[in-house]
Amino acid sequence: MENEEKLRLLGASARFDVSAPSTIAAQDALSGRPGGIYEALSADGRRVPLLKVLLSNACKNDCLYCATRCSRNIPRASFQPQELARLTVELAEAGLIKGLFLSSGIVGDSDSTMARMIEAVEILRHQYHFRDYVHLKILPGTSDAAIARAAGLADRLSVNLEAPSSTQLQTICPGKNFRRGLLGTLRRVRQAIEPGQVRAGLTTQFVVGGAEETDRELVAATARLEAELALSRVYFSRFQPVPDTPLENHPATPPAREHRLYQAEFLLRSYGFEPGELVFDDNDMLPLDQDPKLAAALARPDFFPVEINRAERWELIRVPGIGPTSAERIVAARTEGKITSLRHLAMLGVLTERARNFVTLNGHFYPTPAAPRQLAFEL
Ligand code: SF4
Repeated sequence: MENEEKLRLLGASARFDVSAPSTIAAQDALSGRPGGIYEALSADGRRVPLLKVLLSNACKNDCLYCATRCSRNIPRASFQPQELARLTVELAEAGLIKGLFLSSGIVGDSDSTMARMIEAVEILRHQYHFRDYVHLKILPGTSDAAIARAAGLADRLSVNLEAPSSTQLQTICPGKNFRRGLLGTLRRVRQAIEPGQVRAGLTTQFVVGGAEETDRELVAATARLEAELALSRVYFSRFQPVPDTPLENHPATPPAREHRLYQAEFLLRSYGFEPGELVFDDNDMLPLDQDPKLAAALARPDFFPVEINRAERWELIRVPGIGPTSAERIVAARTEGKITSLRHLAMLGVLTERARNFVTLNGHFYPTPAAPRQLAFEL
């Protein structure tokens, strides 16, 4: 099979992995480019084209939702490590990609598959002197020795947990072991990373909506993992039914649910929210019609409005429309004098049309005329 055809097959198979340099990766391959090139957003908002590809779409496992599950009748292909390394370099030299995200189905056993993935990255780094971003997926059950080799090569490592608990994992991946296989591997990867290695850190990914898990469970697991294992972040991949799988008639998860989970995860990771501060509905799901920060603020009439001239940083960043940067500017500006106008707040980077319903300025409250009726604050 020609490399172009392999790339088309193995790039398409990788599209459900959303691990990328940062924030939300587009899951559709870029049109007009060779298969497997996807765009991700970097932490500073730049669009970064990545070659996102599987080393092989053959797999011994039969996960119920997966397009490459072993019992599905599809064309299979594998790259040789040298082939994949060469192709990556050619695409980079043509200016089409700025990095590689490499995963694989499990061919035979995890360690031998992982050895071939690592060999591809070793060729890239040592033979071709490839210095761009590499994200390497660690397969469950990979040995400590292989993990250590991977940690010396990649900018980011990840282990997919798929579901927030063992019971839920069994409903989508009955062949996988949550505690020893997935969580155990994630923990061993954390222990193997030496200070200064793997600059973009360690991540994991959940499938959203395949295992009847709730958002409350996903948020709690995310908070626990980010705290205990110092994960750089958690990714969410919404469930999309694949024809000819046992879950082909299971409804697709709406993109809005995935989006709300990313917003909630951002509040935990970057704003220091606790899971208990977030609002869930009677079914333990995040409201789809309201962003989680606004929902959390509207649920706290005892806490709001906060006085801009006195509030501490942690209080300021709980105000809708105030982020970490504008909170720091507010704190710095207060050393020069009182902040008494919405105009001054706007100059500090605050989104005043959101924030004004939750703050006072020197004791004065300036809500929008159409402020939500929940805003019955005692001043
Ligand atoms: S291990 Fe499961 S999810 Fe991963 S490629 Fe194989 S069948 Fe798919």
